[in-house]
Formats: sequence, C-alpha cells, structure tokens
Amino acid sequence: MTMTLPYQEPLVVREPGERVIPEPPRRGEPGGPPCGICGGMATDAVWSDENWTLHPPVNGSLPGVVWLASRVHADSFSDLPEELQADFGVVAARVERAILSLGGVARVHLYRWGDGGAHFHVWFLPRPLGMVEASGMMLPLWEDVLPNVSDDELAEAARRVASAM
Ligand SMILES: [Zn+2]
Repeated sequence: MTMTLPYQEPLVVREPGERVIPEPPRRGEPGGPPCGICGGMATDAVWSDENWTLHPPVNGSLPGVVWLASRVHADSFSDLPEELQADFGVVAARVERAILSLGGVARVHLYRWGDGGAHFHVWFLPRPLGMVEASGMMLPLWEDVLPNVSDDELAEAARRVASAM
C-alpha cells in the first residue's frame, strides 16, 4: 500500500506554534459551550440501542461514514462505565460489518480524535475499495478534499448501514 497525500508536492514543513496552555475548553466541558449531542444538535440517529446512537455526518464526501455516540455524557474510553467499555467492542464490530456490507469498501477505519466535543463518539470511515492512496492516515485527508455529496446521500447510506446492523 502506498499512502499518498491528496496535495501536489512539494509541500513545505512548518514549525509548530506556541503551546496554548491552558487549552480552551471543549464543547460539553465545564466553562465550554454546551454539549451538542446532549442538546439534541446532532443529526438524527439512524440506529440506537440502550447504550449507543449511530448518526450520519453532514458536509462529507464519503457515503457510508457514520459516527457512534454513547447515550451517557462521558468524555473518553476511560470515563465510560465498565460495561460500556466492554460493549463498545461488540457494537463497533457490528458497525464495521454493516459498513462492509454496503459493498465497494476495502477497510473500515475508526477515529476517536478527542479534540472536538467532550461527549464520547467514534467515527467509522469506509475506505473505498481500490483507493490504496487513501490508506491509513491519508483517508481523512482525502475525505476532506474530495467533493462533498449531498447530506441526503450521506443520510441514505447511513440508513443502509443501520438496516444491516
Ligand atoms: Zn453530552
């Protein structure tokens, strides 16, 4: 596999900026803006159970992308109740299998960045079959530069994932 940046070269390495300490509070943290997930600002869930909700993205380029959120407002893996930590592996496997069932998907990549909202959520991104230049960490960069599809198309693909759960 040959990972390739979605930009023409040569790129120029830049120096990192000054450290910002303390860091600004994230959404859903004390002193920060309210949590969008708890506040009902997220896209409607296409699937849910007693622990999790599954959502389509907006403004995206890859149909089949979904994100999974805990029902409880907890920040990261280490903040989740133990039974949810264990259940995450089970539900993540179901989401992966459901995305693969769409067809035309080589791999399903999971991203838990932890720099956005402070409400546990994990992204599932399908790498299109044969798109080897978008392997590994290149996939979210390619996702960013590829032309967006409509939010309706993203939601429809997410509903197909949900029906395969
Ligand atoms: Zn929340």
